[in-house]
Amino acid sequence: MRGTKIIFLLLLFGHLSALPDTIRIGGLFHPEDDKQEVAFRYAVERVNADRAVLPRAKLLAQVETISPQDSFHASKRVCHLLRSGVAAIFGPQSAPAASHVQSICDTMELPHLETRWEYRTRRESCLVNLYPHPAALSRAYVDLVRAWGWKSFTIVYENSDGLVRLQELLKAHGPTELPVAVRQLPESHDYRPLLKQIKNSAESHIVLDCATERIRDVLQQAQQIGMMSDYHSYLITSLDLHSVDLEEFKYGGTNITALRLLDPERSDVQRVVRDWVYDEARKGRKLQLGHTSAKENMTFIKTETALMYDAVHLFAKALHDLDTSQQIDVKPLSCDAEDTWPHGYSLINYMKIVEMKGLTGVIKFDHQGFRSDFTLDIIELTRDGLQKAGTWNSSEGVNYTRSYGDNQKQIVEILQNKTLIVTTILSAPYCMRKEASEKLIGNAQFEGYAIDLIHEISKVLGFNYTFKLAPDGRYGSYNRETKEWDGMIRELLEQRADVAIADLTITYDREQVVDFTMPFMNLGISVLYRKPIKQPPNLFSFLSPLSLDVWIYMATAYLGVSVLLFILARFSPYEWDSPGNCIDEPQVLENQFTLLNSLWFTIGSLMQQGSDIAPKAVSTRMVAGMWWFFTLIMISSYTANLAAFLTVERMDSPIESAEDLAKQTKIKYGALKGGSTAAFFRDSNFSTYQRMWSFMESARPSVFTSSNKEGEERVMRGKGSYAYLMESTTIEYVVERNCDLTQVGGMLDSKGYGIAMPPNSPYRTAISGAVLKLQEEGKLHILKTKWWKEKRGGGSCRDETSKSSSTANELGLANVGGVFVVLMGGMGVACVIAVCEFVWKSRKVAVDERKEEASLCSEMASELRSALKCPSTGSGGGPANTRDGAGSPYLHYGFSTKSQLH
Ligand code: ASP
Repeated sequence: MRGTKIIFLLLLFGHLSALPDTIRIGGLFHPEDDKQEVAFRYAVERVNADRAVLPRAKLLAQVETISPQDSFHASKRVCHLLRSGVAAIFGPQSAPAASHVQSICDTMELPHLETRWEYRTRRESCLVNLYPHPAALSRAYVDLVRAWGWKSFTIVYENSDGLVRLQELLKAHGPTELPVAVRQLPESHDYRPLLKQIKNSAESHIVLDCATERIRDVLQQAQQIGMMSDYHSYLITSLDLHSVDLEEFKYGGTNITALRLLDPERSDVQRVVRDWVYDEARKGRKLQLGHTSAKENMTFIKTETALMYDAVHLFAKALHDLDTSQQIDVKPLSCDAEDTWPHGYSLINYMKIVEMKGLTGVIKFDHQGFRSDFTLDIIELTRDGLQKAGTWNSSEGVNYTRSYGDNQKQIVEILQNKTLIVTTILSAPYCMRKEASEKLIGNAQFEGYAIDLIHEISKVLGFNYTFKLAPDGRYGSYNRETKEWDGMIRELLEQRADVAIADLTITYDREQVVDFTMPFMNLGISVLYRKPIKQPPNLFSFLSPLSLDVWIYMATAYLGVSVLLFILARFSPYEWDSPGNCIDEPQVLENQFTLLNSLWFTIGSLMQQGSDIAPKAVSTRMVAGMWWFFTLIMISSYTANLAAFLTVERMDSPIESAEDLAKQTKIKYGALKGGSTAAFFRDSNFSTYQRMWSFMESARPSVFTSSNKEGEERVMRGKGSYAYLMESTTIEYVVERNCDLTQVGGMLDSKGYGIAMPPNSPYRTAISGAVLKLQEEGKLHILKTKWWKEKRGGGSCRDETSKSSSTANELGLANVGGVFVVLMGGMGVACVIAVCEFVWKSRKVAVDERKEEASLCSEMASELRSALKCPSTGSGGGPANTRDGAGSPYLHYGFSTKSQLH
């Protein structure tokens, strides 16, 4: 019962809301954009063919062709259309004509459908614009620029519309942030002067806003002046980049990105386009596509054309929806009368609430009637043409679908066909001129660690390279006055080179302006100085094992012990003996420890020789025992230390570290001019290094050098009066070859050498990866050994060290000469004493025998004669130097002292 009721109501309703059989819709088109008209007509045909869209009526396209600038003519054609009774007006595309059409439609309350960029759309007007709303579109550009992290960029625009289109971008980068340059394209078709200015400003991020037809021209001219390098990025605001022929830019490596509304890869889009092309061809109508494949045809379908197709479908859908709720009739309207179409607003409202899927994605309008919720594809130019890299939509922003790995793979592919310009400077052992009899050219001129390294990297990534020496031969430093960089860094910044490879230190300042790879070598600043001059061995180096104090203490101990022994022996009764063994009750007792004997005894034991005298009393034995113990320890210590002192050559260096340098002013020190070493001291906050920097800066003549080689030569020439602050790796190389130089102290800091590239270089990650790979494979180590220890005289100082260490055990006369001197001295003194003894005794004998003064000489002569006389043959085995006869001085000799006992 209830079901019958519903069917009845529906039938009644259906009867009431019958549409006229034919509904006219007007289209205003310009002669030059015939595709709009074709799209319009085709869409009408599709709607009529598909009964599901508008079941009870057919659309009838009524087309008027107008000139874009002639608004008066446009208004007349609109009035003509209105008179013929149209339900909506589509187009036109030109702004002046469109605004006239819109005001007429507003007056007549007639739906006006547009498909063009228009920022003046009012909420309450009769306009339904399918083109994405400018504010939303502008936000998409802001999101993209943010996602890429562009710090600065230049906007190149064609007319004021462009500025309006990019106003969100301009607002997002206000004066507080990094500057945004805005430049207008000239009217003429020569954009080179403008592009050159942008190039000179070193800007590599460009937002290009111009008519789709001009994009190719602008890019071509940019290419001519070298602005289509790997480091340039273009964001093109046109939604129709797919319709531009970008063939010649595909392999350049330039990052060209745009957004699009129409996704040609979508199957429904492809089907519509294919049918359309086929249909047009069947009817013999020229679509001027000229291509056969549907994909290629896609490039000729602009966003606005697709939007026109969608507009007709939107209108049909809204009409159908409105038809279900009210009776619609279409009546002719006169521009001269104050007449309106009563269903106009209803139809407009239906169009704004309807949600449908068109060629340009989901079509829906916000509460203001603007199309602000839409999805855009992010497209990038690759070697295979434009490829979708991600999407943007107003709620989620940028969403990249291509993975990081995909991007890198693509970059490596691009690299494989590239010839990179590699800037470097001559600095051993990183880059040196090859020694050859014939003249070398090109890359063959150079050899070294850096040359081998880039060769290895190129093998991994498959690119070619050409070396180019930096014209000023410098690493790269920032001049705060001119605000310019020099050296290799400048070459990179001005994009005259793609890669800089040398002993280029990664520093904060450089990292701000160029990109560095992972470090391929680690190092620190140290001091290059002359080796300390070897001291000639000291003649009396045998005295060195004990210090002077110890020698003095030993001499004192020797005298003290001798005197004590003498005294104790006197005290002790057990040291007094009878002179002969057979005398029981001796009148005279003898003590063997006279002062001289005591001295002899102690020196004998000190020299480890002993003597004939031996103590008998416990007290004297105690003295002797302790003295022997003392000598045992002293002599062992002396012997243990002696070898070291005789063999080790003393090296006296006035400086042991950088701090020592800072403490003095006699030895000058400097560094490489404009290098990171000098910058380290200049920028250091540590007081010692600050002091060193002021010393270096104020020194006259200048202590700075133009190359490390010059620094090395200056240290050599300076003979100890100049020290050079240099990086440890280079010091290592120098001291391996120049045996007179050495590294003094440790490292003052820790840093690394990296390969530098222009800012935003797409190859940084790939080259960094290659460096890591080489490091893990041990290739970097092999290269280091080759250029440090093997090539170009490497290891020559090692030979010298091993030679000197093998001869270290032999002692020369210079080492032990002092011992001979002492021996000779001792002999001499003994002789002198012997003479004195002889003279003194002869004189004593002469006096005793009361001889005349004159007879002293004869007495001495007779003594000498008897001393030199050979022993008599009859004396048997008796001692040779004993003689008989009174008056002989030898009669009283002997180790005994007779003392009277009281
Ligand atoms: N390797 C350094 C540089 O990159 C040179 C130096 O200062 O020793 O500047």
